[in-house]
Amino acid sequence: MTTTQPTNYTSLLTNWKPDKTSDIPLCKQISGYILSLVKSGELPIGTLLPPQRLLSKLFCVNRSTLVTALEELLSLGIIETAYGAGTKIASNTWSLRMSTPTPNWGSYLHAGAFKENLTNIQTINKLEFKDEIIRLGTGELSPSLYPKEFMTYALQQASQKMTSLNYIEPLGLYELRKAVADFLLMDGIQVSPENVLITSGSLQALHLISIALLKKGDVCFTEVPSYLKSLQVFSSAGIALQGIPMDRSGIQYWEMTSYLSEKTSPILYTIPTFQNPTGLVTSTERRKELLHFCENHQLPIIEDDAYRLLWLDSPPPKPLKSLDQHGNVLYLGTASKTFAPGLRIGWLVGPTAILDRLADAKMQLDYGASSVSQWIFAELLQSVDKTDYLNHLRAELKKRRDFMVTLLYKYFTDIAQFEIPKGGFYIWLTFKKPINVNKLFTKALNHNILLNIGTLYGSTSSSLRLSFAYAKPEEMETGLQMLRKLLNQ
Ligand code: PMP
Repeated sequence: MTTTQPTNYTSLLTNWKPDKTSDIPLCKQISGYILSLVKSGELPIGTLLPPQRLLSKLFCVNRSTLVTALEELLSLGIIETAYGAGTKIASNTWSLRMSTPTPNWGSYLHAGAFKENLTNIQTINKLEFKDEIIRLGTGELSPSLYPKEFMTYALQQASQKMTSLNYIEPLGLYELRKAVADFLLMDGIQVSPENVLITSGSLQALHLISIALLKKGDVCFTEVPSYLKSLQVFSSAGIALQGIPMDRSGIQYWEMTSYLSEKTSPILYTIPTFQNPTGLVTSTERRKELLHFCENHQLPIIEDDAYRLLWLDSPPPKPLKSLDQHGNVLYLGTASKTFAPGLRIGWLVGPTAILDRLADAKMQLDYGASSVSQWIFAELLQSVDKTDYLNHLRAELKKRRDFMVTLLYKYFTDIAQFEIPKGGFYIWLTFKKPINVNKLFTKALNHNILLNIGTLYGSTSSSLRLSFAYAKPEEMETGLQMLRKLLNQ
């Protein structure tokens, strides 16, 4: 029997709890519930159940209650356990007994070309929404920073202007593309609305590039570590990610030379400003050199500028795109990090022929980003004065960054090092001695602390991506103090 990895772990397991007020014993409720999931096909044959410790935590019961429930399922042949291989659904005998056998969903689950997220990312994606969890690495603003007044105004204005909520032309709402083009002028990027494609977040821009511009076997260079490594979009399209080291000035672009001769259509993905996950900023000099190098080698660049507005000390160097005279750079921006990730609005700036191709792919995928979001964000860019909001946001993020830095000095200076970021959300903490960050992830989770470990971003050092943008200051203190305790153990 093939093993189906837990879909980490299906929300059906994470969100259900036995009723402690019921007369039915807890173990019976648990075995009955798992049985119902098997019966309905929600837990297909071969599904690996979470470890007992985690399962008892998810169900809020003690281990012995859980063991009793599992023993019952074992005796019915519904699950099987193998030493070192965990507990799996083994319901062949069970399905024979059922009046209407379910399809073997297990054999479909992994059949598609689109890969699943890394297991730890699946866990993060699920557990981030649990109230009791302290999120020390989350890449979004704390809800306490939500610009309520400002958004209410944009929503009101947008509702007046919306003339219909029909589909929108392939490149996106003209008013929004125009607003984005005007907005980019501020950073020295001169483009017309025809050079702007509105996407459902910049994640979709990456997806579109991976499926429409690149082919199986192509190489995408990335910084090491990089946000792109935490995604499966490129590898699902058969594109190999080739890490290139960074130093304090940015990516060591010359290291790409040896790969260039071998590969036909490579591309570079870079986050030169407040890099995710390291927070590093590529220097002006390195930007110029990098662009020059890429021009000489006809190497296209994807510049991901998600964090540009979030400078805390002084504005960062201008984007690569502002220096790009020859259409070498595909520039990605997003509403997510500074305003509202829930709008799912991003933009991709590049040559018109490329944009038309990507827009055509986008029409086949989703027929356009939400029209409501496009109207709202157009309004937000065009007619709302953002100065006060941005000043307030930067001041708040700066306070949070400084607080986290104080905590890191307090709890970690003897065992780890970090650079103080000049903007963005992240502090890249690297342990002086190698530690097993995967184990740390699990240990921390047992104490309700969610970590973004460096390996998710392709780092080979023992590092964590800490975020000062999301957790409350008191949570940062509790979480980091606990983390230090765990590391001492
Ligand atoms: N690029 C970078 C560098 C990011 O950090 C993120 C979000 N983590 C994204 C793109 C995706 O953002 P969105 O799809 O919300 O625009």
